[in-house]
Amino acid sequence: MPVNLLDFDGPALAEYVQGLGQKPFRARQLQRWIHRAGENDFARMTDLAGSFRALLQQQAEVLQPRVTADRIASDGTRKWLLDIGGSAVETVFIPEQRRGTLCISSQAGCALDCSFCSTGKQGFNRNLTTAEIIGQLWHANRVLGIARDEVDETADDVADAQSDTDTDQATDGATSSASASQLLRPVTNVVMMGMGEPLLNYEAVLPALRLMLDDHGYGLSRRRVTLSTSGIVPAIDRLREDCPVALAVSLHAPDDALRDQLVPINRKYPLAQLLAACVRYLDRAPRDFVTFEYVMLEGVNDSPAQARQLLQLLAEVPCKLNLIPFNPFPGSDYRRSSIDAVRRFAEILNRAGIVATVRKTRGDDIDAACGQLAGQIEDRTRRSLRNTIRIEPQRNSEAAA
Ligand code: SAH
Ligand code: SF4
Repeated sequence: MPVNLLDFDGPALAEYVQGLGQKPFRARQLQRWIHRAGENDFARMTDLAGSFRALLQQQAEVLQPRVTADRIASDGTRKWLLDIGGSAVETVFIPEQRRGTLCISSQAGCALDCSFCSTGKQGFNRNLTTAEIIGQLWHANRVLGIARDEVDETADDVADAQSDTDTDQATDGATSSASASQLLRPVTNVVMMGMGEPLLNYEAVLPALRLMLDDHGYGLSRRRVTLSTSGIVPAIDRLREDCPVALAVSLHAPDDALRDQLVPINRKYPLAQLLAACVRYLDRAPRDFVTFEYVMLEGVNDSPAQARQLLQLLAEVPCKLNLIPFNPFPGSDYRRSSIDAVRRFAEILNRAGIVATVRKTRGDDIDAACGQLAGQIEDRTRRSLRNTIRIEPQRNSEAAA
């Protein structure tokens, strides 16, 4: 079986390359070919020694998940369906004027069964591997990118759009001395907000995050990589130590009684514990606030009284609120809050000094909006056993540390 090099972050690739008797800088060259140039054909990695390339051809591969569908919404949002051995997961690219955001999946399905989420309703099949996670970014850049040797004025425009006010963002090629033909990469931001709970697949997600940040990988700044979690408290603490990217937490309710209903993991990690973990996270976070996501469900969590309750709850937590109008899916029991209710809710928060923004719904005509990602999951959870599922994240082997 060939080794899939998309499974390796920087240190793991260095170890592999060293095992083949090569110098460490060869690993960095190889990494840039794979992740910066989007190359999967070793024969084309022309500045690597012929003997090294031959060895790689025998033993290794760069293999992304198979794409089974590719749809573009009227607003330009693009969704790929990926086959990961029987189950389908989804990746969504959201183009905006000055940035391109890729929404990445981390699991086939999700075991946590939040009552308003289409992925949760599908059940759980399995964790994605690092190759399947980073493969989504590799694929998107490759499909959407423009090869540097084809650079013309259009490409210059893309480069302009890529560089914005973030000074800590490594620009394409700036840190690379490889002669690899570079892709002008359209993905400037990544959100781990696709299918699955990323912190319940910690071991595979961590190397993928590290590749996103690596100058020889995708060179994204920590503030441009956001991980969204329903609140796996011990894993939030681990992420704080290992790789503190921007954090978004799915809150959805101002008290434990309601959150227990909407986000069942709350029964294990209730609000007091979750908010304490958020505050701890902040001293390592790339931004000085946590983003709380709050799906707006008509008559469930959208009243002015609940907005005021939220103010009290979050009084000690530096945060911003991202209000997400509920995206319906077949079989869902909830209704989206009215525009007026959302406005009123946002206003109460804003007047008290908490920034609350309303998330624009993108790609809903191709079911690519938040919570509509369903793929096709062969459920292995057997819902009746739900309460016995072990939900602690596994200890990371630290092989990649
Ligand atoms: N499991 C992680 C990340 C994936 S879900 C988490 O729960 O945070 C990404 C975001 O979409 C979460 O904030 C989730 O609560 C939200 N979401 C899920 N279903 C939704 C729906 N039907 N409408 C709007 N947002 C939804
Ligand atoms: Fe899982 Fe997140 Fe959906 Fe909850 S909202 S079921 S944690 S994917």
